[in-house]
Amino acid sequence: MLSVNNIEVIYDHVILVLKGVSLSVPTGGTTALLGANGAGKTTTLKAISNLLRAERGEVTKGSIVFEGEEVQARSPNELVRRGCIQVMEGRHCFGHLSVEDNLLSGAFTRRDGNAAIRADLDLVYDYFPRLKVRRTSLAGYTSGGEQQMTALGRALMSRPKMILLDEPSMGLAPQLVEEIFEIVRKLNEEQGVSFLLAEQNTNIALRYAKYGYILESGRVVLDGAAEALRRNEDVKEFYLGIG
Ligand code: ATP
Repeated sequence: MLSVNNIEVIYDHVILVLKGVSLSVPTGGTTALLGANGAGKTTTLKAISNLLRAERGEVTKGSIVFEGEEVQARSPNELVRRGCIQVMEGRHCFGHLSVEDNLLSGAFTRRDGNAAIRADLDLVYDYFPRLKVRRTSLAGYTSGGEQQMTALGRALMSRPKMILLDEPSMGLAPQLVEEIFEIVRKLNEEQGVSFLLAEQNTNIALRYAKYGYILESGRVVLDGAAEALRRNEDVKEFYLGIG
């Protein structure tokens, strides 16, 4: 569904941050992009979404193909319209808007009518009952977990085929992290949404993903089926803290 071929990213005109990253994400299921702080996970997602800007000295080379089409020159909104949306690290909710208005803002690229959008809002509330309870609260006053759910729910309102999900576990208590990953799994299975999941929490990511890529200093150093990565001695030692 998504294929990233040999991308390089330069920041500030000179700093080579991604040094030829290639990966692919099949339809259905979750693919994990793993690595320590600063390895280049967020940069990879931003390059796919075309959020890097030449006027800021940010350069992307290589090719990105989504559903058979080269998308590197497409705007982020165009990519959302085609069905690929990014949920940013740190959640980025509109704090001064209600939870429900945040969710509705996710439908901005859609051209179908209000009835379809309301139906999808109900679907989001089915997946996130907490958001229904909190729907009139200002998003900025909801908990970290609720903001993560709002961000994910807002992405769902664009009817995505693929979500690029950046560090959903960040700053959340373990039980909430588990709750969010369970919802990701259900969205995989019930809605057919594919995920490219950037995570520092290797342990949980490899429990939910089918396949994983490990990034170090802007390069993929290892990739494989999630089960195989969990058994790999280096992964155990350096990323899972076992052995
Ligand atoms: P994190 O989990 O901290 O987000 P990450 O794996 O997502 O880590 P990136 O955020 O992609 O890593 O950062 C990769 C490298 O690029 C880091 O060394 C970071 O300092 C650098 N970097 C990120 N954004 C910029 C920027 N706007 N300008 C210059 N360097 C940057």
